Amino acid sequence: MTERLLNNIEYNYKTICENIAKAAQRSGRKYEDITFLAATKTVEAEYINYAISLGLNHIGENRVQELLSKYESYDLENTKLHMIGHLQTNKVRQIVDKVDMIESVDSLKLAKEISLQSEKRNISTDVLIEVNIGGEESKSGISPDELDELICQISELPAIKVQGLMTIPPICENKQKIFGYFENMRKLFIDISSKKIDNISMNVLSMGMSDDYVEAIESGATLVRIGSALFGARNYNI
Ligand SMILES: *Cc1c(COP(=O)(O)O)cnc(C)c1O
Repeated sequence: MTERLLNNIEYNYKTICENIAKAAQRSGRKYEDITFLAATKTVEAEYINYAISLGLNHIGENRVQELLSKYESYDLENTKLHMIGHLQTNKVRQIVDKVDMIESVDSLKLAKEISLQSEKRNISTDVLIEVNIGGEESKSGISPDELDELICQISELPAIKVQGLMTIPPICENKQKIFGYFENMRKLFIDISSKKIDNISMNVLSMGMSDDYVEAIESGATLVRIGSALFGARNYNI
């Protein structure tokens, strides 16, 4: 571990917390109302644990393999671990008892497997439904048109609990356009919430990353997923 990197992480962590607090205030909320989750793909456990020592209490991994290889090294005593990347059905059993939340559920098949594997272990797994708000072909996530039906189907499953929605909007330079996507997510979130479906809660709206977490919070995000703004640029993109 180099001293310089640790200093950068500390500086970045404090700056992000301040920005979150200000954005929360602008949207009529408090810092404590927003969950700051660090996206930790490609980051070594030592650096993740350093961020945890500063007060970070949510981390998220993208890949099952990477999560498993780092799992024993994370300092998880006061920290929650989320799966935030695309999850293949055949890998659910490897992580279902290790994560606090799976943010990337986008099909009934995946939800059924999460429920089945959770039932076997006598647990219930909290999940978010990933929405493909930009309608991009290359992205995972359920289309907004199919969201209601999927949520109703999942509500029938015994050992999975929908806690909200997650999205990764298209990359765009134009901040106004990003606001539009976030606003559409907020509408979906409020819409589903008002339907009061049994076994479905809308507590978490996960949107916003390093470049747009301020805009996301202003649009109602309750959880932001931040990687490069905290740990520095990654060597490769996932
Ligand atoms: C990598 C990643 C992030 C964070 O991205 P940054 O731009 O580095 O902040 C957030 N969410 C998901 C699902 C990711 O894979």
